[in-house]
Amino acid sequence: MNAQTSRISSEIDFERDGKQTGFLRLPHSVHRSAYGWLAIPVVCIANGPGPKVLLISGNHGDEYEGQVTLMKLARELELDGISGRVIIVSAANAPAARVGRRTSPLDFAGEGNLNRAFPGDANGSPTEMIAHYIVSELLPRADFVFDLHSGGHSLRYIPSAEAKLGDDGEVNARQSALLKAFGLPISNVGETFDDRTLAGTAKRLGITFIGTELGGGGTVSAPILSMAEQGLRRCLKHIGTLPQGDAVDPPPATRLVYVGGADYFVYAPDDGLFEPYVELGQMVEGGQAAGAVHFPETPWQSPVIAHFQRAGLVLCERVGGRVERGDCLFHLATDHKE
Ligand SMILES: [Zn+2]
Repeated sequence: MNAQTSRISSEIDFERDGKQTGFLRLPHSVHRSAYGWLAIPVVCIANGPGPKVLLISGNHGDEYEGQVTLMKLARELELDGISGRVIIVSAANAPAARVGRRTSPLDFAGEGNLNRAFPGDANGSPTEMIAHYIVSELLPRADFVFDLHSGGHSLRYIPSAEAKLGDDGEVNARQSALLKAFGLPISNVGETFDDRTLAGTAKRLGITFIGTELGGGGTVSAPILSMAEQGLRRCLKHIGTLPQGDAVDPPPATRLVYVGGADYFVYAPDDGLFEPYVELGQMVEGGQAAGAVHFPETPWQSPVIAHFQRAGLVLCERVGGRVERGDCLFHLATDHKE
């Protein structure tokens, strides 16, 4: 076998028209199941010529808003209602999604992070094999990729869409139009992508890519789900997957922001119990106190105070009281002019 050919097989034929459901089979030979495979659910809806769309969630298993959105969409999209092809992988890192964790318990000492595993490895661990399959089998079949994230267990975001604007003006224009169509409260055009992410991979390959940070805290909320569902349908209508007559509300205004370098981030200066001083959506100044880390084991000791290094909008906050030195407490964004 060519080392670059995926060992994951698909039960469905992506080149065939129709609505198909099934599993991607990831070979997984372990003590309790010698010839077994891990099931990654996949839905393909293909109806003649038209745009080719790849919808992904569960890249991180504890980011539920996108998973719920795509499960609903997978059931709702009817074959005769669309043009082109939509591939939906709602639990991309299925072993992580199954246990409701950001990372897969099956590799990397129980911290298999799919979105740090790209471009992956055909002969690697389960998480690496999934990354490799996405790059070698799914991205080549997509003109448009949506990767629905949220803050997960440890973070919470103002609902945001993200696009990394690069050197290709046509891709930039498509992504900017999709950010407006999505109509989430925030559109972030300056996230600093790690090149091991799906976003970084799509950018390298010149694929039109929209990410999201829908909320987080390991929760699902009705208002955020509604934003995600409406926004994604508007994007599919904008692309031409859904007919122009599809009934969706016009997009709400979105605030265009930029996330720059390391000074946009605030980290826990010590281990302890975190007390935030600010809230999501608040504007802060450089030097302003962001929060305190208290010491429950020595409660007579004064807390250590973390500060914002620069001014900006609080886009993301830590969830959960206990922190360790180096945990992200907040990150900021600044307004971006088109
Ligand atoms: Zn994520």
